[in-house]
Amino acid sequence: MKVTRRTFIQGGVVGAAALAGLGFDLAPAQAMIKDLKISRASEVRSVCPYCAVGCSMIAYVGGQGKTQSFNTTPHLIHIEGDPDSPVNGGSLCPKGAATMQLALSSDRIEHPRYRAPGANEWTRISWDEALDRLARLMKDARDERFVATDADGNTVNRNEGFAWGGGATITNEEGYLVTKFMRALGVVGLEQQARL
Ligand code: SF4
Repeated sequence: MKVTRRTFIQGGVVGAAALAGLGFDLAPAQAMIKDLKISRASEVRSVCPYCAVGCSMIAYVGGQGKTQSFNTTPHLIHIEGDPDSPVNGGSLCPKGAATMQLALSSDRIEHPRYRAPGANEWTRISWDEALDRLARLMKDARDERFVATDADGNTVNRNEGFAWGGGATITNEEGYLVTKFMRALGVVGLEQQARL
């Protein structure tokens, strides 16, 4: 028999009626169908990674080991604007609304990589190696370019070895902490994309 759209729907209706006739209670199944896919997910607040507007987002993560979780592996289900944010009031521009594509992209680099001087290939390194190298380079650059006094003999304790540039996802609180840390290192060149 050729199955058309009409016969397929008719078959489904007849099948559901038959199940109900046999004493099966279809109400829980029907209620389940109406459930939103985010209904059992955990909400994680985040900030759009793209531009200086710094719109707030809610990322819905399933599989966090909670009761009735989809499974035991955390996985991103959905991202939307945060309605409680005074910045964007729940809205996102088309670019921000497509952030799921960035988060789940197979091209996304999730581990630190290092390209040695003269090499043409990147090597994957551990986070410990990356942080050790970062700390080493920061220390060396600070020692090399530290200015204790200016030309008039005034104490300035200025670190001219490196500057700091923050991205759009840095929040007020993180910006405050980073600024304190950088000032403690004597850094005078501080800038942040979002300026939240
Ligand atoms: S949602 Fe759009 S406007 Fe908002 S921060 Fe992201 S890119 Fe910028």
